[in-house]
Amino acid sequence: MTEIRSLSPADEACLCRAYASTQKGGTLIAEDVHDLEAHEQRLAQPNSYRPASCPRCGSKLHIHDLRPRGLRGEPAVATEVLRFRCADRERCGGGWQVLPAFLARCLWGSWARVAGALAGEGPSPVPQRTRRRWRARLAGSARMLVGVLSTASDGGTWVALASAVGLGARRIDVLRGYAAARTRWSEAFIPEACFAELAAAVHRLCPGVRLM
Ligand SMILES: [Zn+2]
Repeated sequence: MTEIRSLSPADEACLCRAYASTQKGGTLIAEDVHDLEAHEQRLAQPNSYRPASCPRCGSKLHIHDLRPRGLRGEPAVATEVLRFRCADRERCGGGWQVLPAFLARCLWGSWARVAGALAGEGPSPVPQRTRRRWRARLAGSARMLVGVLSTASDGGTWVALASAVGLGARRIDVLRGYAAARTRWSEAFIPEACFAELAAAVHRLCPGVRLM
């Protein structure tokens, strides 16, 4: 973790901002879609991506459209994502896009790109400036992340992780703790699946909150 600058308050706020209760829709992460091939298969049968109901009001969701997913420097994973619209247009009108877990929300690329760029100081297609910003985020306080993980009710993984790293942890410590627990991985490199799974869990537990 070299070249760390501190996280600006604005950057920190954007990572910790949960969806407002008044927000009409947002992103849902399909946690079981780990690669482009699986994603394309699901797109071919769009109903397989349809959420059970509108997370905001519980009404049925209709397929709205396919939206190109902008990816920087990754033509191999250029794809589209499905958007759904709440059937109760008058009282709710929520719109939800479903993002496969291997794509990083708000980071314009795949988690493979992020994991690769953070793996070392060698050449990377990701600009140095971007890598510095990502490293600064991971060096920042994970207090909110840990708080969110500690509220998980699905199995003990997230609660155990939160308790193991503690409220004083940095974001990178949470990632490393998860990588160690999940894969027995002890090297500096953190597998992309660890980024993807942790980020998806945090977003599910508190929509809007980001790993990085
Ligand atoms: Zn709705």
